[in-house]
Amino acid sequence: MSDIIHLLPDNVANQIAAGEVIQRPASCLKELVENSLDAGATHIRVLVRDGGRTLLQVIDDGKGMSPTDARMAFERHATSKIQQASDLFQLRTMGFRGEALASICAVAHVEVTTRRPEDEMGTRLEIAGSDVMAQEVVQCPVGTNIRVKNLFYNVPARRRFLKTDQTEMRNIQTEYNRIALVYPGVQFTLVNNDEIISELPISSMKQRIENVFGHTSKPFTSQLVDVSANTELVNIYGFVGKPEMATKNSHQYFFVNGRFMRHPYFHKAILTAYSGLLAAETVPSYFIYFDIQPDAIDVNIHPTKTEIKFADEQAIFQILLAAVRESLGKFNITPSLDFTSETRIEMPQTSPKPTTIAMPRLQVDPSYNPFKKPSSHQQQSAATGWEKLYVPSSYEPTSEPAPQQLFTLPSITDTTPLMQWQNKYIVLPTEQGLMLVHQHRAHTAVLYKELLSQLKERKGISQSLLFPEVIELSNADMTTLQSLQSDLQVMGFALEQLSPNAYTITAVPMQLGQVNPIDTLLQVIHQVQDTGSNVALQWQEAMTLTLADKMAIPLGKSLTDMEMRDLLIRFNENYSVQYLNNGQTIFTILTLDEVQKRF
Ligand code: ADP
Ligand code: MG
Repeated sequence: MSDIIHLLPDNVANQIAAGEVIQRPASCLKELVENSLDAGATHIRVLVRDGGRTLLQVIDDGKGMSPTDARMAFERHATSKIQQASDLFQLRTMGFRGEALASICAVAHVEVTTRRPEDEMGTRLEIAGSDVMAQEVVQCPVGTNIRVKNLFYNVPARRRFLKTDQTEMRNIQTEYNRIALVYPGVQFTLVNNDEIISELPISSMKQRIENVFGHTSKPFTSQLVDVSANTELVNIYGFVGKPEMATKNSHQYFFVNGRFMRHPYFHKAILTAYSGLLAAETVPSYFIYFDIQPDAIDVNIHPTKTEIKFADEQAIFQILLAAVRESLGKFNITPSLDFTSETRIEMPQTSPKPTTIAMPRLQVDPSYNPFKKPSSHQQQSAATGWEKLYVPSSYEPTSEPAPQQLFTLPSITDTTPLMQWQNKYIVLPTEQGLMLVHQHRAHTAVLYKELLSQLKERKGISQSLLFPEVIELSNADMTTLQSLQSDLQVMGFALEQLSPNAYTITAVPMQLGQVNPIDTLLQVIHQVQDTGSNVALQWQEAMTLTLADKMAIPLGKSLTDMEMRDLLIRFNENYSVQYLNNGQTIFTILTLDEVQKRF
């Protein structure tokens, strides 16, 4: 009997792959523009004709290709971006599969001219249905110019599947926007049937958003507030819309490491932050950029999919939620701040009842994980074909770590048993397990909220110093202190300028107690400078967190039962997440499972 298995010819294999990667003109455009970005282009021009059906052209000023590379580029699995499987975890480029160009030229007529800066002459290649029709030496500018003509000329089924030119053009514009919104340092031009429909100069991130979406007389970005959270796990920055600006169709964008993504779970975090603030049936706008170690996300997704899996989704959920809440909170306090009247100075005998910001309770289903892997059986049968080649072992279902639980502090009653351990942690039994609360950080969280609310209500309470202290400062520190002075005053500091480089401190916030005021102010100044921002609201946050950290009960301090109870109750009233704004963990749980494993 003769063998019946044979290898598919390259052009057939490429056409099959093209079905996966290139579904419509917009996906083709995405691949081409991503290649230009990977090539370090600073100006990318996109020319479209007839919805991309007859022509899609991308011209860049990137690093170009050598004659050999230009030819290689169209081979399947030809890539300059990774060499071995482990490189997958360090990816900083958009492409890595080496499939796009091979796929595109399997289903279109492709013409490319390219030149590297170090070469005098460039290369011109013509390819049709995976075959090289011509290669020649030409004069051309540095960079790469790719023309994709007659897309799906040899795949009638695909061609019929295309929508009207207007719809395909809209899809192209959507992809174009998604990319342009993450690369404000690159100039983009989009031309449709000889008409320039978008021209985006190099600008700031916010200005880029304005240039993409602002078509009205009132700047679109004036409706946005800044969001930022820098933690060891992830850096988050971007903008969210003011609640009253929310509409039914708002712009909602998540990006991770320069890539657009969808993330229903993080979307839920944002909606949770807005709970109670939105009119019925409206959703807020957001543009949130995540920056994370490449090995903490799985970009090894299907090329056309926009879902991305994070290793530590639950923690990022909380960081994002806290960051958006902070921004909305800051936005609310801004208009009521007014520094004209005098700060009240009094010396209360007992600890004042703190004013608290009522924070909406966090209610999240801890088992919710939209990216939960199917059972290992399903997983294996699904991983057929080319995709198998790209499944790195650490994402095998067997080695996937158990999803991290989302914890909340239970409500504390007079009878909740509490114990202090090592003069550092408060230990208490909960439904979820044995809870360990970091006493210093829990107190920091409480004070942080109290101080923010005092700042908002201008209700800082001062305590006069028996012996005023003199703080001497460098010119830079002096400038920072001056810009913080009114806020510091609201919080309870009384400062009088003594000389061009010195202040006398005559009173401090009541909660500061015996803590050295000079150290405290210096730390506040440096923390604020470290934010690298000149946004007053970010300063207030940095200042408040530093002050709270200074004021909070230290590790090593023994606490009475009353003190522990009081601290946890105040924590529950003020704060609902597990992390401080700087990402530090406030409490954690030793689950029953973990305990049982030890027996
Ligand atoms: P990938 O981007 O996954 O590596 P592609 O098929 O998209 O695979 O591209 C193959 C290779 O061709 C790239 O790795 C790169 O070396 C080269 N290349 C493609 N487009 C360009 C471009 N615009 N400028 C310079 N080099 C390019
Ligand atoms: Mg590519």
